[in-house]
Order: sequence, then C-alpha cells, then structure tokens
Amino acid sequence: MSEPTPTVRDRVLSLPAAELPAYIYDLAALRDHAAAVRTALPERVEVYYAAKANPEPEILGALGPYVDGYEVSSGGELAHVAKAVPDRPLAFGGPGKTPDEVRAALELGVDRFHVESEYELRMLAELARRCAPGRRVAVLVRVNLPVPDGALAGSSLAMGGRPTPFGLDPAQAVDVIRALADGTYPHLELLGVHAHLASGLEAAEQLAVAESVVSWATGHGVPLAEVNIGGGMTVDYTDPEHRFDWSGYGSGLARLTEAHPELTLRIEPGRALTAYCGWYATEVLDVKRSHGEEFAVVRGGTHHLRTPATKGHDQPCSVLKVDAWPHPWPRSAAAGELVTLAGQLCTPKDVLARRVPAPGLRAGDRVVFSLAGAYAWNISHHDFLMHPGPGFHFLNPSTTGL
Ligand SMILES: *Cc1c(COP(=O)(O)O)cnc(C)c1O
Repeated sequence: MSEPTPTVRDRVLSLPAAELPAYIYDLAALRDHAAAVRTALPERVEVYYAAKANPEPEILGALGPYVDGYEVSSGGELAHVAKAVPDRPLAFGGPGKTPDEVRAALELGVDRFHVESEYELRMLAELARRCAPGRRVAVLVRVNLPVPDGALAGSSLAMGGRPTPFGLDPAQAVDVIRALADGTYPHLELLGVHAHLASGLEAAEQLAVAESVVSWATGHGVPLAEVNIGGGMTVDYTDPEHRFDWSGYGSGLARLTEAHPELTLRIEPGRALTAYCGWYATEVLDVKRSHGEEFAVVRGGTHHLRTPATKGHDQPCSVLKVDAWPHPWPRSAAAGELVTLAGQLCTPKDVLARRVPAPGLRAGDRVVFSLAGAYAWNISHHDFLMHPGPGFHFLNPSTTGL
C-alpha cells in the first residue's frame, strides 16, 4: 500500500519536527507480507533474502521465520548478516570477491558460494584446500544465460543475457560444471547453478526465465541438486497497489518442481520483500513558486532516499496536513494544485517526486514517502552537504519471538 499504515501515520504525526526526517518501518506489515509470499510458494521452493536490499538487523530478524536463508554479496554483508541472524544458512555471491573475503567466508562456514568466474573458482578451490581442510565447500556456478524472448520487456536492470561482469558465459559455465563434476576440484562440491538475470520482472516473465534456467541447468547430463533462479520480482513505483503476482508465480514454480522432483529450486528476492514495509517521513520547510511551478522543499532529500533519483521515478507519497504552526512568522503555502517535492541539497537532481497533487500544501505539513523499505537509505549518499541523518523507527516488533 502507498498510504502509511495507522501505526506509521500516528508515529509521523507524533514526532517533533526536529526528529524528522525519519525512516519508519512497520515490522508487522513486513511479517504479514513475507508470510503471504511464503504461503504463495510451493514448500519445496526455498527463499533466501538478498540482504543488500535492506540489511537493517531488525528487518533481517523479522524475515527470519519466513526465509530459508540469506544471500550476501560482500565480506561486509557476510559479517553483518552472520551477526544479526546467527546460525542461518548464507549464500555468498557477487562479483569481485577478494581472497580475504573468501577466507572469512570459509572460516565462518558459509553454506554456499555462488561462483562468478573461472578465476574465482580456482581461488576458492585453493583457499578451500588450505582453510577448510577435510570438508568440501559447496558451490553454485553463476551463469549469464540468454534471457527468453520478451521476458526482459519490463526489466529495469539486466544482469544477464548481454555483456556484463556477472557470472560465467554459458559455454564456459558448461566446462566449469563438467570439471567440478569430474572431481577436478576435490575440495569443492558442485551443488548447482545460479542465475540472477534481471530485476523488475513480472511473474510471467520470471517464470519464463525460471523455466529456461532450469532447462539449461538440467540439459548437460550432470546431476545437480539445486537451481537458484535469483530475485528481481518487480515493484511498481508508479502504481504501488499493483503487486507482483506471488500466487501465479508460485503455481508456475509448483509445475516446475513437479517436473524436476530431483531439484531444489531457490529464489532470492530483495526489493519485492522489503520495499513495502518502509516509509521516509518528513516535514515541508518551505513552499514557493518558480517559473510558474510550485516547489516544496522538505527536510532531508535524496541523500537519505536516493531511490527516485537512481531509478528516475517519482517516489509515491501522501501528505499529512498539520494545522499547528509554532512560529511567529506566516506559513508559506502552495497556490496551485501540483507541487514538486525537493530536498535540501543544492542540486536540481534532489527531487523526490514531481507534480504531486497537493493543493494548499503548507510549510509544516508532513509528507510520507512509501515504498522506501528497499534500496533506499542504504544506497544513498548520506554525507553530501552534511545535513543531519534521519531517525530510525521499527514499529510493531514481534512479541512472540517470531
Ligand atoms: C540484487 C540481487 C538480488 C535481489 O534482487 P531484487 O531485485 O532486490 O529482488 C538477488 N540476487 C542477486 C545475485 C543480486 O545481485
């Protein structure tokens, strides 16, 4: 939903202006959503949460009961996630793993490595021999497969199906898979194939990708235990009510698992799990007219919520009117219907949403940006201009231990 939940709304209105902006997370909303996602999926499909979407410890913890593990893409995420949610299965992926990161992952006993290149495989094999004697380290080979025709139509970011630094080329991946199966790397155990090809895909597109990845993975006569078909389920910032069709996706995956009873299928969503549970709340500082258009300047900006600037969208938002006005000078107010919401940075790029219907918007009113639970605070350039950081509020923590 785009409107803040009642608890979020109450919190936004009760915070003193000096405590804004603030990131407000509704952990009950997150648990409900994650539970619905889990229910929509066949039991035999595993879910790993891609921690880079939002690694706040409270978020990682709230997701705990609904996921089978976590995907981490750096040594920093690895250490952070292992501490925040101890003893949970971790998959270590991402390009450019350093030898130190690989050693740390081996010492931590990471469950799976997603190998991004042949060079990385050789490094991992040697470090596994030295750092993890007596055990075989589990690997999935990440492959940059062609994406089925049409499946990329709606994608905003493509990691596969074109030249990218991610994964192995298909032909080379086949050689690597055969070499692993032949025992060329005695300290490594081939578990399967990993493919995260694009993000921003609808359920039908995701299923087309899943089918083509599984058919490729099972087509080489090498028995595999697992296929990880990645994340990238769409979040529609232009229409927050339009949600990824988890039940349609679940039914499609059920057919795929029935066709391949020998395989464990795994998905690793990030954005579509956590985007909806976070809000960035702030206060209007000033409203003015410029060359015929209304602008509101809010406390904070894209140094806290970079998502609309990086993705080129208007962040969905709602206005909470505040009648009280504490200052002895008059409020500024919008004369027109449509107001562009800008932040405090000295750059025209610091725009959170353009031409938002907000007739009469005044200084002192509050604005709550929704869909701010993923790739929001953690992808932003916090120190630019040295404004104070936002507050953080995690509402409705579970009381049952879940
Ligand atoms: C970022 C990433 C994900 C999660 O993608 P979303 O679009 O957030 O679902 C999953 N797997 C890998 C390898 C990634 O890099």
